[in-house]
Amino acid sequence: MKRREIVKVLGLGAAAVGLAACTEEKAPVADCKPEAAPAPAMPEKPAPIEWKMVTTWPKNFPGLGTGANKLAELIGEMSGGRITVKVYGAKELVGALEIFDAVSRGTAELGHGASYYWKGKSTAAQFFAAVPFGLTAQEMNSWLYHGGGMELWEEVYAEFGLIPGAAGNTGVQMGGWFNREINSVEDLKGLKMRIPGLGGEVLKRAGGTPVLLPGGEIFPSLQSGAIDATEWVGPYNDLAFGLHKAAKYYYYPGWHEPGTTLETFINKEAFEKLPADLQSIVRNAIRVANQDMLADFTAKNNHALEQLVNEHNVELRKFPDEVLIQMKDLSDQVVAEEAAKDPMSKKVFDSFVKFRDQAKKWHAVSEQAYLNARSL
Ligand code: CA
Repeated sequence: MKRREIVKVLGLGAAAVGLAACTEEKAPVADCKPEAAPAPAMPEKPAPIEWKMVTTWPKNFPGLGTGANKLAELIGEMSGGRITVKVYGAKELVGALEIFDAVSRGTAELGHGASYYWKGKSTAAQFFAAVPFGLTAQEMNSWLYHGGGMELWEEVYAEFGLIPGAAGNTGVQMGGWFNREINSVEDLKGLKMRIPGLGGEVLKRAGGTPVLLPGGEIFPSLQSGAIDATEWVGPYNDLAFGLHKAAKYYYYPGWHEPGTTLETFINKEAFEKLPADLQSIVRNAIRVANQDMLADFTAKNNHALEQLVNEHNVELRKFPDEVLIQMKDLSDQVVAEEAAKDPMSKKVFDSFVKFRDQAKKWHAVSEQAYLNARSL
């Protein structure tokens, strides 16, 4: 509509208006009859390639759903409209956890989710989302782009006819919301906490009871006492859910999700049909979206944390070192056991651990040393 209005304001002829309308509404070429003199001969523009993106997020969900929207927009913009991507929220086309199969069979060309949801299909998939005491956002991107991680991820998804891509990152998450202080691992015993994935398994080893709940059920469950504690994402998303109204203590750091990578995956057949320039555009749009989501989360979390502490009087607490040391030991056990389940998982685990050991040494004298220095 905007473009049409601008055309009118500029006083351009009916022919231009007619053509613009046809382009915008993607009407069949036969219906696009300019109303005035024939336009100068132009090479015929091929019809746009129309792709669908199915996501595990509710439509426009802050940070994650909006990150999926951003990727779709980038592909449209960067390709000059040669590819259009229509985004579907969870349940609009298929259920949240059906998107992997839907893209695999070609119902949609793109998916947007997190790879730990697919551990039932491939244990190895979990390593590309979040590993307790694993890699930070910066380290994940380094491992994926320049440390062999992406090649392994492609190998894992190839058998499903999918090409994966890192399409966003939350950064370090928060440790969660509690109604009692956590002074030792003893305080986790008997605790019913919403915490998914490998982190949940670690809590179980510490004597707690991990509960799996979708986002929308977290607040009512915490408020009614059906669960004692929960983690979700970070200040931005947690504030939006109102979790501070149902719990007193907000603990950090999120040892269980130190830099969760969100993913996109592309139907391989659809991707291979694209000319080389469009393939490159899609790949690079994914890279931009990956960077943009982390920047978005970082900016919004800064602001939301201030609000939680200053306006809502949330008690911000750090897990005691003793608790973190014990959770790390348990995490190492859990992750190694997962890796031993099949040869592909072992291959990914070995690459991941080798990279983490190197990153630890380098970041001890760079990022970590600097952040410590800045806080002196
Ligand atoms: Ca989380």
